[in-house]
Amino acid sequence: MRDEDGLSLVFISHDLHVVRAICDRIAVMYLGKIVEIGRADSVYHRPQHHYTRVLIDAVPRLDDGQPATRTVRGEAPSPLHPPSGCRFRTRCLRAEVRCAAEEPALRQVGDDHFVACHFPVSTEPGTPS
Ligand code: SF4
Repeated sequence: MRDEDGLSLVFISHDLHVVRAICDRIAVMYLGKIVEIGRADSVYHRPQHHYTRVLIDAVPRLDDGQPATRTVRGEAPSPLHPPSGCRFRTRCLRAEVRCAAEEPALRQVGDDHFVACHFPVSTEPGTPS
């Protein structure tokens, strides 16, 4: 449909493995805001938002059939009363004081790849840049 009729389609799922197989671009949303957006391969293979990484780690792997153990803490807050600053901060294992005080804006981290995070995955110690 996309190729033959020139349509743009929006496919919504929590399964980023399926999304990557179908879509050219991925936009990851948390509590109603886009936290990461970019080309599908870039977002899937080099996720920069901690929520994106949790979603990718939740996909069962072929080697052992088990999802990775990376977790979030707590339950998702109500979208009607989102946390101050970064909306993911109450569940993010990387959260710092700045995350509660200042809402991160989307900023470019690669070619057509943007993330809204003060401390993206690539800034973690031991992460290849
Ligand atoms: S801004 Fe802070 S709380 Fe939000 S995802 Fe980034 S590190 Fe985690």
